[in-house]
Amino acid sequence: MCTTGEKPGKGKYKCLKCGFILELNDATDTLPPCPKCKATKWEKL
Ligand SMILES: [Zn+2]
Repeated sequence: MCTTGEKPGKGKYKCLKCGFILELNDATDTLPPCPKCKATKWEKL
């Protein structure tokens, strides 16, 4: 599980609360809060 503010690397992440899929395209990208529900917990896909 990943949390908002971390830089977990490239890949797709799913919001644990609402299921929104977010893609990080760069290793230096920071996980944001979920744009749909503002949750801060993500699962790496
Ligand atoms: Zn969400």
